Amino acid sequence: MLRLYSTLTRREEPFAPAQGNTVRMYACGPTVYARAHIGNFRTFVCLDVLRRTLKHVCRYEVRQAVNYTDVDDKTIGGAQQAGVPLREYTDRWIQAFREDAAVLGLETPEEAPRATDEANLRAMSEMILALERNGHTYRRDGSIYFRISTLPEYGKLARLDREGMQDGARVDLDEYSKDDPRDFVLWKRERPGEPSWDFGTGPGRPGWHIECSAMALRLLGEPPIDIHAGGVDLIFPHHENEIAQSEGATRRPFARVWVHVEHLFVEHEKMSKSLGNIYTIADITARGHRPSALRYLLLSAHYRKPLNFTWTGMDQAEEALRRIVDFLARLDDVSPGDSHPPVLQAVEGARQAFRSALEDDLNTAAALAAVFDLVRDVNAAIDARTISAADAGVVRQAIEEFDRVLGVVSLRQTEDARPPIPVEEIERLIQERQAARQRRDFAAADRIRQGLAEQGVLLEDNPGGTRWKKK
Ligand code: AMP
Ligand code: ZN
Repeated sequence: MLRLYSTLTRREEPFAPAQGNTVRMYACGPTVYARAHIGNFRTFVCLDVLRRTLKHVCRYEVRQAVNYTDVDDKTIGGAQQAGVPLREYTDRWIQAFREDAAVLGLETPEEAPRATDEANLRAMSEMILALERNGHTYRRDGSIYFRISTLPEYGKLARLDREGMQDGARVDLDEYSKDDPRDFVLWKRERPGEPSWDFGTGPGRPGWHIECSAMALRLLGEPPIDIHAGGVDLIFPHHENEIAQSEGATRRPFARVWVHVEHLFVEHEKMSKSLGNIYTIADITARGHRPSALRYLLLSAHYRKPLNFTWTGMDQAEEALRRIVDFLARLDDVSPGDSHPPVLQAVEGARQAFRSALEDDLNTAAALAAVFDLVRDVNAAIDARTISAADAGVVRQAIEEFDRVLGVVSLRQTEDARPPIPVEEIERLIQERQAARQRRDFAAADRIRQGLAEQGVLLEDNPGGTRWKKK
């Protein structure tokens, strides 16, 4: 059975969904005002591995929501600077995030809500009004605040002392006046030049924390949801405040398990936009690295341990992934013959080790070690010719099973199958070549064919037209 460490209890706990076979999971998504960096993607890749483990190892259904924070100071400021409406501005960054997520092989969550969708703004407003009815709020100059002294359990997730909370809260301070520095804003009053909505709270815009509480419960149903997740920096104040809002409004526990991914560091400092030490996926590929190797690197360490990003680490990830891919190619050349029980035993051992590593609070490092033990043993069997083609098929199937969770080999295969230049460009050149041939400029037509061949794309003329394939 899967055991997951929950920040709420500071313990590993056996995990099963509360309702039937479906895991209801919420993860805080990106703030869409810039390209996400690979630190952000450490969190999203680890949560993707969690999602795949729940599906393929534990055999649960998963219903996951990951939000886009598309209204806050940074998105509003960015849109103003770019001189475009907020929605248009955040659309661009959402598109960029989706591209990067696809390049890293992240599965698409069932729900990807935007805070500014009307249904979500209505849900936030209703939650704020419920908090108001339950006596947890006060209004000041058109803004609405959560009064944390009304919730004795406040602080149960972060377990900070009063002083620590004040420190954390200071980060969250804005120019609005509050009774207690630890109180936080639920709804910010309308201000010139800022977008504003009113679904019963008075005109204004949501504070950051309320969106996740409201969207999680609107999209995932009755509390408590099973898993709430994010990076460790979100424990306080964001997740603490999400608990306060959801529990203050519904009077029921919000989430059963809280999962937090430790940071990605560079030179032992947290990778963050404010420190200026960030890399995007484009920075990684510009250095000739494949996204599949980055995914490998990001999932190679246990998610609760810090991971230090280095270029040497990237090289090693490339090398490790290449070993698996080369190994799969070697399996193709194995000759038929009698089955060899030790190979099948090695596969069974690897299956068990892989599963128990992931069940042990998602120990991906140990899961990868199980994969490489199998690679080593079977490579030795291939050298000694103590493996049949049928055994090789069983080994291949096991690696494919492992990769349903890891998602690195399939990603690498997609990368390899992808044409080296965009398909639209190839098609445009085919048409240009066609036009050149029609005007009998065969030299120009040949130059196009030659140019494509140099880039790894071969043209094939058929009666029905010209087709292309990868060299
Ligand atoms: P943001 O777009 O800043 O709201 O962050 C999106 C997600 O990335 C959150 O879950 C953050 O906790 C996470 N995150 C931010 N920086 C890092 C980092 N250096 N390493 C891992 N996760 C991070
Ligand atoms: Zn959130």
